[in-house]
Amino acid sequence: MYYLDPHIHMVSRITDDYERLARAGCVAVSEPAFWAGFDRGSAAAFHDYFRQLTEVEPKRAASYGIHHMCWLCINAKEAENVTLSREVIALIPEFLGRPGVLGIGEIGLNKNTRNEVTVFEEHVELAMKTDELILVHTPHLQDKYKGTRMIVDILTSDRRVRPERVLIDHVEEHTIQLALDAGFWVGMTLYPVTKCTPERAADMIDTYGTQRILCNSAGDWGPSNPMNVPNLIRTLRARGHDEMTIHRIVYANPIRFFSQARNWNFNPPVPAE
Ligand SMILES: [Zn+2]
Repeated sequence: MYYLDPHIHMVSRITDDYERLARAGCVAVSEPAFWAGFDRGSAAAFHDYFRQLTEVEPKRAASYGIHHMCWLCINAKEAENVTLSREVIALIPEFLGRPGVLGIGEIGLNKNTRNEVTVFEEHVELAMKTDELILVHTPHLQDKYKGTRMIVDILTSDRRVRPERVLIDHVEEHTIQLALDAGFWVGMTLYPVTKCTPERAADMIDTYGTQRILCNSAGDWGPSNPMNVPNLIRTLRARGHDEMTIHRIVYANPIRFFSQARNWNFNPPVPAE
């Protein structure tokens, strides 16, 4: 079955992973900008990173027949440094016109601090001015509900924000309803240890249906599994979900959400619906 991985950090994956993804039916990936595992020392480091996302990865992916798209921002973990964050935000417009740039992301909150909120709001401001989609990272573990609530409140109080152009990612059982009720798209992240397993994602699909739901591996440099979208497909099949339902979650839905982007440049191999 063809599928997309709507959130995966390919810069930290080896080339063999592209081959495994392609063999499993992956036709496109979307890569949000994220934390490198250490705090970068300057805006110039982000400039290089944005070049890697927009120039290098699309070529690496293309050699395996995979279409690569990306999102740009400074992530919440580095947003404590507001001065650096503002320098990085000022760099982003230069890259927004590049093919396959889907929008601003993954922005959000990590420890729900004042500085993180400031930088989150300034990213949203940029997205509104430039008519970009938004991809939001929600915090982990005990801060998740509070952070998701804060994010949803900030976004819904800005009347310019159209919820159908925003994805709230890393939802779990206690936050999915909050985001769906406000009209946002939601992403379930299939991590081996934290966030959500394929089984828990299947349970949420049983409860909430398939509307405005995406599933991703969020494969990165930490404990993660880039094959977790295919693993979810297997889990859903084993539980008796029909092929149309699975196709909607792993293929049609990401295409519906991403194709709203100004620089959407993917030609899907089969119709989305
Ligand atoms: Zn991520």
